[in-house]
Amino acid sequence: MEKRIIYADHAATTAVSEEVLQAMLPYFTEHYGNPSSIYRIGRENERAVLDARARVAACLGADPKEIFFTAGGSESDNWAIKGIADKLSAKGKKHIITSVFEHHAVLHTCEFLEKHGFEVTYLPVSADGLIDPQQVADAIREDTALVTIMYANNEIGTVQPIAEIGKICREKKVLFHTDAVQAVGNVEIDVKAQNIDLLSLSGHKFHAPKGIGALYVRKGVTLSNLVHGGGQESGKRAGTENVTGIVGLARAIELATADIPAKTAKLTPLRDKLIDGILQLPETRLNGSRTQRLPGNVNISFAGIEGESLLLMLDHYGIMASSGSACTSGSLDPSHVLLSLGLSHEVAHGSMRLSFGEEFSEEDADYILSVIPEITERLRSMSPMWETMQKEHIHLNANKTKLIKEGE
Ligand SMILES: *Cc1c(COP(=O)(O)O)cnc(C)c1O
Repeated sequence: MEKRIIYADHAATTAVSEEVLQAMLPYFTEHYGNPSSIYRIGRENERAVLDARARVAACLGADPKEIFFTAGGSESDNWAIKGIADKLSAKGKKHIITSVFEHHAVLHTCEFLEKHGFEVTYLPVSADGLIDPQQVADAIREDTALVTIMYANNEIGTVQPIAEIGKICREKKVLFHTDAVQAVGNVEIDVKAQNIDLLSLSGHKFHAPKGIGALYVRKGVTLSNLVHGGGQESGKRAGTENVTGIVGLARAIELATADIPAKTAKLTPLRDKLIDGILQLPETRLNGSRTQRLPGNVNISFAGIEGESLLLMLDHYGIMASSGSACTSGSLDPSHVLLSLGLSHEVAHGSMRLSFGEEFSEEDADYILSVIPEITERLRSMSPMWETMQKEHIHLNANKTKLIKEGE
């Protein structure tokens, strides 16, 4: 098959789309005013930010006053968690509930708070990467300040029962934050119907630039500032507005959420075709639920193969993929997400994530399916681990989480 160039790492970042770029361009040059200034180009930019806020809000079922612009997903996560923790600890609430497979922007923030006297419950996830809402209900205590559970996992693409968790939190009067960075543009979000109190999103995951994001904060919820200074964002987040980024974010979220059913209908069969095709290869496993997963996510482990060499080979064939999250690749620690599913280090190490967007085609899927058998065969032929597996009759166990000797 002819070589193709395929960007299959949308969960890491995406390109700024032409429409988003065109919307942003005037704000770099002629519309450069500070939104706080009194003259025309200032006031016009104040209006542009106001207009963008309303458009972002509309895509989430929120009120414009409930949208605060930030510098991205990590800042939104930090602000939501630290801001609520600070506010509610004054009322004696120093307990936070999260899950073991959150993004590091959430996990490391929770670890930081543990050093400052907070107690954090890290809920386990099921073997297929899902959180049981009942577990959340059982973990809630008198002193629980916040539940923070991600909407969709960035590595294995599993989509959590957010509406159920939201309902439980509302009934128990505990605030609920969700890191929806991977969900926006892929699943329908309605913060009111789903009882979400705080929601993080990041522009660069859906064709806006890097460094712009937003935090939705339900009316009536107060949280302390993360960034102190001027009176921007209703005095809640200081700093001259990133007007270009904000305008781009608004255009990008409108485009990303315009027709989610069509995108899902297009990508789901391609995802399933890839999963079914790759799982034909021996000693492979799918990570994460087959059905409760993002339409553009495939995550597979290959026993006897190093994830890094797999990615290099894929790159050689024009396919840009990832072994886990971009933030952890580069370190040799296996992904905390894959370990949370019960995988052994060896199995977790040989993993590959493909994450694709609306432009992904049947031809792309066919090309990937045509090269992966070649690649895995070649890598396994050079792998000491695979050789040992063959010689000593070692295979993946029944639930494909670790390697065992035949008959054990
Ligand atoms: C990418 C990502 C983040 C971080 O967003 P940035 O804008 O890169 O800071 C947070 N959470 C999840 C689930 C992500 O995928």
